[in-house]
Formats: sequence, C-alpha cells, structure tokens
Amino acid sequence: MTRGVYLDHNATTPVDPRALEAMMTFLTSEYGNPSSTTHGWGRRARQAVEEARASLALLLGSRPEEICFTSGATESNNLAVKGCARRRARTGGGTHLITTAIEHPSVLETVHDLEREGFTYTVLEPDPQGRIDPEAVRAALRPETCLVSVLAASGEIGTVQAVDRIGDLCRERGVVFHTDGTQVVGKLPMDVHRSAVDLLSLSAHKLYGPKGVGALFVRSGVELDPIFSGGGQERGLRSGTLNVPGIVGLGTMAAIRAREMEAEASRLRALSGMLWDGIRERVPDARPNGHLTDRLPGTLNIAFPRVPSERLMALLKEFGVSASSACHSGKGDPSPILTAIGLDPGLASCSLRFGLGHATTEDDVRRLLDDLARAVRRIRGPGPRAAAPAPGV
Ligand code: PMP
Repeated sequence: MTRGVYLDHNATTPVDPRALEAMMTFLTSEYGNPSSTTHGWGRRARQAVEEARASLALLLGSRPEEICFTSGATESNNLAVKGCARRRARTGGGTHLITTAIEHPSVLETVHDLEREGFTYTVLEPDPQGRIDPEAVRAALRPETCLVSVLAASGEIGTVQAVDRIGDLCRERGVVFHTDGTQVVGKLPMDVHRSAVDLLSLSAHKLYGPKGVGALFVRSGVELDPIFSGGGQERGLRSGTLNVPGIVGLGTMAAIRAREMEAEASRLRALSGMLWDGIRERVPDARPNGHLTDRLPGTLNIAFPRVPSERLMALLKEFGVSASSACHSGKGDPSPILTAIGLDPGLASCSLRFGLGHATTEDDVRRLLDDLARAVRRIRGPGPRAAAPAPGV
C-alpha cells in the first residue's frame, strides 16, 4: 500500500530513526529521574540530559548553561515573553513590547495576555514578501520598551527575517531581543551570540526529533520570571521532572543537524526551485507568497488564482500538503499570515504550502507537478488563459 508523499514538514517532521534509537534506552532500561542523583539511575539520566544540552548549545552557538529544556516552542515562547516582560516590569525595565503580525499564536496570544496585566504593545506589519524592516523595529522602540519579539522565519510563508540586524539594534538600546527560531533551528545556521539574540525558542519535532519537547536559549544575565511554580528544575526557570527521552531525542538531532544541515539545505533549495519552476511552467499565473530567495530552503507557499485550496487539496489526496499552518487549519477564515502580507482573502484561500523535507525526492516533485497541473485544469475548467509568468527563484 502506498502511503503517499508527505509534504508538510513545517507542521511536523518524522522522528529520525537515529533519534528514536537513542531515546529507546531512556524509555526502557534507563528510567531514572535526573534530579535523583544519589544513585546511578539518576546520575545516568542526568548525564544524558547534560550531553543533550551540550549538543544543542553547540548547534546554537551558546553555552550549555544557557539552554533551558521545555515542552516545546509554545511553552518556550510563553516563558520568554511573559517571563521577560514580568521581570523587566517588576524591576523598572519598562512595560512596552514590540512584536509582529506574523508571529505564531504562542507569541501573539501571550502578548494579548500581557495587555490584560497592563502592558502595552506595538505590532509591526511585514512587507508583501513577509519581511519585517529592522528600521521599523528601531522606529517602534520607546524608552519604556522592555522586549522585542520577532520570529526568525515563518513556517507558513518561509520568509527569513534579518535577525542579526534586529538583534544589533536591540542591543544598542539595551532592550531584550527574543526570536522564535522554531522553523529555522536545524535548517539554517543560527549563532545566537553572533546575532545578539537574548532569547530563542525551538521545538524538537520540527527538526526530526519527538513532539512535546523543546528548549529556550536564555543568554547569561537575562533574567526571567518562571511561569511554572514547582520543584525548581532547570535552574529554577522551568519546574517539572525533565522529559529525559525527549531531551535525548532533541540532543541527538541537534548533533545530527549540525553535521547534515548545510548539505540538506542545498538539496532542498534545489528541489523547491525545481518545484517552483515546474509550477510556473504549468500554471503561469501562480504567484509565490513570501520571499523567493530569503526563505526556508524547503518551503514554498503558492497562490493559484481561481483554485480554492480546499478543492485542490481534495484532488491531491496522495500528497500531504496544507493550506496554512497546522495551528490555523480548520478555522475556515483566511490565514492571518497571508492577510498580513497583504494578500486579498480570495487569493489567500487559493494558496497552498509545500513543506519539503528529508525524504522528499525529485521523483516526488515530478509526481506532484503532474498531479497539480491536472488538478488545477480540472478545477478551473475551460476558461480565460493565464497571465504573464511569475519571476524565477
Ligand atoms: N512557533 C512557530 C514558528 C511554529 O511554527 C510552531 C509550530 N507550528 C510553534 C511556535 C509551536 O510549536 P509547538 O507546537 O511545538 O509548541
């Protein structure tokens, strides 16, 4: 039985067998609690956690003690934004936040929660390619700004932000800079010290690790109020017994992605270039959403005018593609990210996201192109011919 071609790697990725193998030991024989270091079980679990911490630190360019393990990027974003804002407000560091209209809900909703606690905020809009202008960040900074949170790349349109420049200007003004790196870590090089990032969130399941585990990089010296009360694990920042198997899976993938990321990024760039060229040829009025060059290597979001994405997906059942992010799918209204880049709701509802990944082959892309062209023809029926072709990658 064929299981189809999975092209939704921005929603989640399959667990790499090497991560699974490393995790199995900690799901079976090595079940110790890493906080119970009076015996070997606990000490072995602690050692595994610390090795994972060191591998992740190496991937991010941080020090191991700057890594705090969490249950995933949603928690990391909550901890970063709430933890920093509350601490800064308590210590006279200001009550104004800056973020963007293209953040994941775990940042935007957190900012809304903080508004109810008395914080104010500015939401920056992206340009039509999905880029946040660092100068707009500079212009929005106020003496009372305590935190800037700009995601490193949107998983929905793939546009990569100028994190280095935004980090530098926050540093100049003494404002804490958080970036949601969930879609970038393990796909593109990220060096938190070079980029002047103070806080960075990530989730293991976006880099071929397991679901339900992630981390927050917290630069030494940046103080956060914890959001959980409890046993004081992770240097008091994140209470709760550590998810040892998950952390081992994340650490294993951090080490693997550090070695394999670059070659994989060029392969995916070539494959998604081939996909876009093939789409342009077959559907000349198709339009890319997001930036065609400054983007995640395996991500393409394309608008097919007069082709409702629900109908297109119904004809492309063999392919695991999606119309918007997993967090937004099923909500019926157009994606807020596509609306934020200025796409009219009609075109937004005719857009599809292709998230290529480790197992995607040229043959998959060729099959997708054939089926896509057939499906578009079928939905449109005989009608007016298409407009001029869109630009190349
Ligand atoms: N941030 C971004 C940019 C994401 O793409 C996601 C997952 N879609 C998250 C945060 C949340 O990750 P998780 O669901 O693993 O908590």
